[in-house]
Amino acid sequence: PEFTHADLNELIDRTLFFASQHPEARNVEVRKALADHLPPVWVDEKQIQQVLFNIFINAMQAMEQGGIIEVASMLEARGAEHWVRVRIGDNGPGIAPEALEQIFTPFFTTKSQGTGLGLAICRQLLDEHQGRLCVENQVGQGAIFTLELPTEPVGR
Ligand code: ADP
Ligand code: MG
Repeated sequence: PEFTHADLNELIDRTLFFASQHPEARNVEVRKALADHLPPVWVDEKQIQQVLFNIFINAMQAMEQGGIIEVASMLEARGAEHWVRVRIGDNGPGIAPEALEQIFTPFFTTKSQGTGLGLAICRQLLDEHQGRLCVENQVGQGAIFTLELPTEPVGR
């Protein structure tokens, strides 16, 4: 990996551009609420784009009839440390409660053509960034993935 300081909003925009070229992006509307003046995050840009791409494509695949993806970025202070959080929500069917933690297990998939590796790799990459990747179901409908990344290298 090659860590640098990077603008997460820019990585989001770049990845959304790639994802929007995907055939599954048809009938999907993206709504962005990206915070201004975010501090740069300490990341391998390619790896984080890969994570974002996986999550966007999963969201699109969950909404076969089309739908809305909401992407928000925000700053979070934890003591002296700063983190940038990204929330990616969709209005697909959400995730069955018994599958919620399994979706990060390698080879767990509910798709006939799925590899079940996407989210396992995403979580591994977030761990290597000393970040976090979590999932919850929306109250109405759909899934929300939350990513947290540090603004500086952190020791554990
Ligand atoms: P794959 O996409 O190959 O199935 P992933 O690791 O990317 O593997 O995802 C694992 C499983 O998590 C999917 O098969 C699906 O059941 C579930 N999943 C992931 N994202 C979503 C989402 N946005 N909405 C509903 N289910 C999802
Ligand atoms: Mg996937």
